[in-house]
Formats: sequence, C-alpha cells, structure tokens
Amino acid sequence: SETLDRPAPKPGILDIAPYVPGKSKATGGDTLYKLSSNETPLGPSPAAVAAFRAAGDTLELYPDGAATALRAAIAEAHGLAADRIVCGNGSDEVLHLAAQAYLGPGDEAIHTEHGFLVYPIAIRAAGAIPVVAPERDRTTDVDAILARVTPRTRMVFIANPNNPTGTYVPFSEVRRLHAALPRNVVLVLDAAYAEYVRRNDYESGIELAGSADNVVMTRTFSKIYGLAGLRIGWLYGPAAIVDALNRIRGPFNISGPALAAGVAAVKDRAHVEAAAAHNALWLPKVTEALEALGLAVTPSVGNFVLIHFPETPGRTAAEADDFLLSRGVVARRVTSYGFPNALRLTIGSAEANAAAIAGLAAFLGKAA
Ligand code: PMP
Repeated sequence: SETLDRPAPKPGILDIAPYVPGKSKATGGDTLYKLSSNETPLGPSPAAVAAFRAAGDTLELYPDGAATALRAAIAEAHGLAADRIVCGNGSDEVLHLAAQAYLGPGDEAIHTEHGFLVYPIAIRAAGAIPVVAPERDRTTDVDAILARVTPRTRMVFIANPNNPTGTYVPFSEVRRLHAALPRNVVLVLDAAYAEYVRRNDYESGIELAGSADNVVMTRTFSKIYGLAGLRIGWLYGPAAIVDALNRIRGPFNISGPALAAGVAAVKDRAHVEAAAAHNALWLPKVTEALEALGLAVTPSVGNFVLIHFPETPGRTAAEADDFLLSRGVVARRVTSYGFPNALRLTIGSAEANAAAIAGLAAFLGKAA
C-alpha cells in the first residue's frame, strides 16, 4: 500500500481502532445520572476547585514544566521519592510516553484480553505489536502472559483493578510475573483505581516499582480525586525510566491550573477517604441488587461493575442501555473491550445507584 503521491501514516497507525469514550448524554431528555466513565459522585475536593480558580489569575505564564510542587505533594502523600515521579496529561499520556520510550518497530508488548484500550493504541503508536494474553475468570492470568513472552517482548501492561472487569490480581501473582519476566521487559502496573481497593497487599505494587529496575506504576487524578476534566496522571518508577520519559515528554505537559488543583487535591486526604468509603458502602449494595435481579456481575474491587445480560431478545445489553438512556441513566457499552452483551456501570451517588437499579428492574419487568 506504499505510494509516493500522498503522505501515509507509518505502519501500524491505521491498524489502531480509535478510542470511543463513554457516552456523555442521555437520549430521552435530561442526563440525570452519568455512570459511563467511572467518575466520582463526590466531585473534586473544594480545595482543589479553589486552587484551580486562583490559578486563573496567571494564565499568561507558562506552568512549572517540572511539576515540582505536584510531585512533592504526591511524594509526601505516598511516602515516595519525588524525583522518581513523572506527571502527565492524564495517565493516558504517561502510558504513551512509556511506550514511546521503550517500544519500536518489531518489538512486542503484552496486554490482557480485556485490558484498557489505550494499551494497544500506545503500543501501535510506538510502532510495536500488541500481543493479547487471555484471562482466567476475567482476571489477569500470569501464566498466560508468561506463555506469550518472546525475545521481542519489551513491555507488559496490566491494570489492577482491571477496567472494564473490575477484577483484582493479588500481589503474590504480580510478584510471580515480575520474577519470571526477562529483566529487559518493562512491567507497567496501571493503578488508576488503586484508592478504591481494600486489600492489604495493594501497596506492595508501588514498593516493587520503587525497588525493581523494570517496574513502573501509573496513577491518575481522574477517578477518586474527581479531576478527570483537568487531565492529571503520574508514573512512579526506576530513575532510569523516569529519566527516559522526561527526555521525551512535552516540556509543559500539564497546565498551570491543573497543577495547582492537583496539589490541593492530594493534600485533601479526607476527601479521598470519603470517596473510598462511599464506594465501599455502595459497591456491594449495587452488586447484590443487580444479582437479585438475576443479572450476572463480575466481582469488582473498583468503582464500577461489569454486568452481563441474557442473550434473550428484549433482554440484551444493547436494549438495556437504550432503556436506561431513555430514563436519563447513562451506562457504558463495552463491545470494544470484547464484551458485546455487557454494560459497565459506575458506582454513583445513592440516588444514581437507585435510579440505575430501578431502571434495570423495570427493563427486566421485575420489582426493584
Ligand atoms: N487506566 C485505566 C485502567 C483506566 O480505566 C483509565 C481511565 N479510563 C486510565 C488508565 C486513564 O485515565 P486518565 O488518562 O484519565 O488518567
């Protein structure tokens, strides 16, 4: 398909399936409850909103390209070294930076079957080949990943909890994966939903990123911090990887107002705890209510659930989605993640959760 009479993207680019975000609006009138993008019902910390507004007074100035204050605040909150953190325009950007720095033509990178869609996009954008590892019980399967390692493998991406399944792989499995991977393979632990996890082995992942030469953890302000609109993410890892990413990232990749809001958000630990407690209360309630309606729900540790629908005409995920939309409840179709007959539903406010459950009950012709 090479031609000299017009520009052509480099190989791999046109193999990328464009990322289609969750719907932002309902169809039948007002959008009452947006449960399609794993945003928090608590919104951002009021301190973060105030810092964002105050930063509006200095929009003529370039931001601090090194994100010094934000890295210091993150480091303090998590007990990490600030010089081993790279901030990005959402964790999407740090995932792309890592792929750009460590992958090239001919290289392979492994991600899981129902992994986050940005991984294959970032892998192909870097010119490399995505290799899919099947899951076991919709959960990361370490043996399946290891079976796909070849001399060309350069990166492995796993999300824990995974999106859109919400499943969790215990740290003992992550350690087993790391121990068996060749030392020149970068293991990316995507922890976008970390703060929701109530498992005592969770922080071990960040310790591994602090001690191994080939492990990084990525985090985001889009989920529990309620700052998805500002686009802030970060990566923690070995000094050599941080150095490589800093060489290629845009010199001012995060805006001044986002940096200011991020600092205030990290410092408001009470807000994070409130959001985590809300989720811990509602995740089991929503799961049980859906199961009581006869729906199959993948066990989740995140702030969302994956709901599987019967194949019966009139009962499918696509029809449920349309029905919910007509009632102002916006859920997420997950066909592009390989689940043609499931919906992902974010845990929302008490009212939103009740509306979603009542909507699904009505759809199934059952009492809520
Ligand atoms: N990783 C996972 C697993 C996600 O679900 C998301 C958000 N959909 C991201 C990363 C990216 O989040 P952001 O770019 O907003 O930080």
